[in-house]
Amino acid sequence: MSENEKNSKNFIEEIIDEDLKTGKYSTVHTRFPPEPNGYLHIGHAKSICLNFGLAEKYNGKCNLRFDDTNPSKEEEEYVNSIIEDIKWLGFDWQERLFFTSDYFDQLYEYALILIKKGKAYVDSLTYEEIKEYRGKPIEPGKESPFRNRSIEENLDLFERMKNGEFAEGDYVLRAKIDMSSPNMNLRDPIMYRIKHETHHRTGNKWCIYPMYDWAHGQSDSIEGISHSICTLEFENHRPLYNWFLDELGIHHPRQIEFARLNLNYTIMSKRKLLELVEGKYVNGWDDPRMPTLSGMRRRGYTPESIRNFADKVGVAKRDSISDVALLEFSLREDLNKRAERRLAVLRPLKIVISNYPENKVEYLDAVNNPENEKAGKRKIPFSRELYIEQGDFQEEPHKKFYRLAPGREVRLRFAYIIKCEEVVKNSEGIIEKLICSYDPDTKSGSGTSNKKVKGTIHWVSAEHSVNAEVRLYDRLFTVENPAGDKEKDFKEFLNPKSLEILNNCKLEPELSEAKIGQYFQFERTGYFVLDSKDSKKDNLVFNRTVSLRDTWAKISRK
Ligand code: ATP
Ligand code: MG
Repeated sequence: MSENEKNSKNFIEEIIDEDLKTGKYSTVHTRFPPEPNGYLHIGHAKSICLNFGLAEKYNGKCNLRFDDTNPSKEEEEYVNSIIEDIKWLGFDWQERLFFTSDYFDQLYEYALILIKKGKAYVDSLTYEEIKEYRGKPIEPGKESPFRNRSIEENLDLFERMKNGEFAEGDYVLRAKIDMSSPNMNLRDPIMYRIKHETHHRTGNKWCIYPMYDWAHGQSDSIEGISHSICTLEFENHRPLYNWFLDELGIHHPRQIEFARLNLNYTIMSKRKLLELVEGKYVNGWDDPRMPTLSGMRRRGYTPESIRNFADKVGVAKRDSISDVALLEFSLREDLNKRAERRLAVLRPLKIVISNYPENKVEYLDAVNNPENEKAGKRKIPFSRELYIEQGDFQEEPHKKFYRLAPGREVRLRFAYIIKCEEVVKNSEGIIEKLICSYDPDTKSGSGTSNKKVKGTIHWVSAEHSVNAEVRLYDRLFTVENPAGDKEKDFKEFLNPKSLEILNNCKLEPELSEAKIGQYFQFERTGYFVLDSKDSKKDNLVFNRTVSLRDTWAKISRK
C-alpha cells in the first residue's frame, strides 16, 4: 500500500470531515445497534469495527444499543453473548450500554405528539388488508377507511391499546404520510402493534411494541448520535426516518449506508444460522465452523486478525462478496507473528532408532518462534522410540518425495539425520513401525557434520508424548454462495467433510501445559488452539484454526 492510499479516507470519513468542517456536528457519536435475536457474526464485526473505529479515529464516542423491540425473538442469552463478543474484539462502550426498551416511554410520548398533530392514526384493518391496501410500487395504494378518525378517537383507542383492552391484530397505530408515495416505506407505515408478550427487560409492562422503523431513528436521536451508519437495505427507509424526526422536531442524526459484508463459502443470515443450530447441523452457535464470532474465537481466530480483515475489506457503497481467503490471510499473518511453535504428530507412525541406546533421553533445543526472538527456546526430549507422521513415509516413494523411504535419509527437526533400515509389517501387511538408524554426528546446531538431506520432518518422543484429540475443520459449505440457489435449500450445500476428528494424536510434552487463549503453530501442520469447551486436563482437545497455506484454492480449481 502506498503512503497515499494509507492516508486516503473512505467515503464515510469524507462525509464526517465535511460535517465537522461545516459545523453540522461538532463531535462524532456513533452506535452499534444489534437486535438480540442471535449471535454476532463476522458481518457484524465489520459494522462494529466501523462504528467503534470511527469513534476512536475522531476522538468521539460509540454506544452499544440493543434494538430490543421484538419480544418474541429476543433472549438474554443473546444479549450476553453479544456483549462478550464485542469486548473480545477489543472495543469499549464505557458506561454507554443502552436498550431501545429503555425508550419505550419516550417513544410512546412521541407517538402521542404525532397523533395530536394529526400525523398518526389507529387503524382497524387486518394485517392482510393493510398489506393489500399498500398496493405495489408501480401503482398507488388505497387509503384505509379508518384513516380519518378524529384525534380524540385515536388518542382514546391508542391508550386502550396500551392498556391491554384489545387482542393482537385488532388495531395498529400507523403514521399518516402518503399512500401513493413511490417509496413503499412512506405508505402509512405501522408504528405500533399489539403483542401480549413478556419482554426480556420490561416484563409485562407493555402490550404494544414499537416497530423497528419507528424505534430506530428516534433511539438514535435520543442518544444524540451524529452519524447513524447502517447497511444499504435501509437507504429507502431514510426518508421515513427523516419524516419522523422532522415531524417531532428533534435532534437529527445523519444516516449513511454502506454495503454489508458477505463472505464466500458461508452464510451471514441470522435466521439461517439459527436453522443450522436448531437442526443440529452444527454443534451450537459457537461451533468452530460457524461464521459467528463465538465460533471463530473457539476455532482460534484472534481479534486482531478480524479487525485487520475488516480494515482490508474497507467500506463500499455497492454489495459484493469478499473472499474468505482474505480473512484467512489476515489470520495467518497475525498467527505467524504470535503463535509459538510446537511439534505434534497427527497421524502417528512409530519408529525405533536401533543404534540409539535404550533408556537414554536427550533434551534438545527448540526455537519457540523464529519470528520473535523474545519467545526464546524450549527443551524437547529425544529417545529411541519416536512417532513421525504417516504421510512423511512412503514405501515406494514417488518422484518428488524427499522424506523418509526405505534406505533413505531425512532430518528430524531440531535433532538428527535418520535412515530407514527396515519396514516392519503385521500379518495383514499393514506397516507397524520402521526400524531406523541415526547419525550421531548430525545433531542440529552442532556443526560437526556437513551431511545434507533434502527433507526435514517433525516427530515426538513416544514415551514422553501426550495424547490428544485434534479436530480439523474445512469450509462449512462446498459452494461459494450457498444461499444463492433459487431451487435448492442452502443446507444441501453443507460440506459433509467440514469436520474430521483425529483421536490418536501425539504431542510434545510441553503441550500438556497449554492454556485456553494460547495460540500455537504445530510445525508443518497448521495453527491450533485448545478447544475452550471440550478440552480437559486429562483429555486434551485441539482445534485446527487454519492450515499453514491455502490449499483450498488449488483443490477447488481442479
Ligand atoms: P436481522 O435480519 O435480524 O436484522 P441483521 O444481521 O441486520 O439481521 P442486526 O442485529 O440488526 O442484525 O445487526 C446489527 C448491526 O449490524 C446493524 O447495524 C446491521 O446493519 C449490521 N450488520 C448486520 N449484518 C452485517 C453485515 N453482513 N455486514 C455489515 N454490517 C452488518
Ligand atoms: Mg437488522
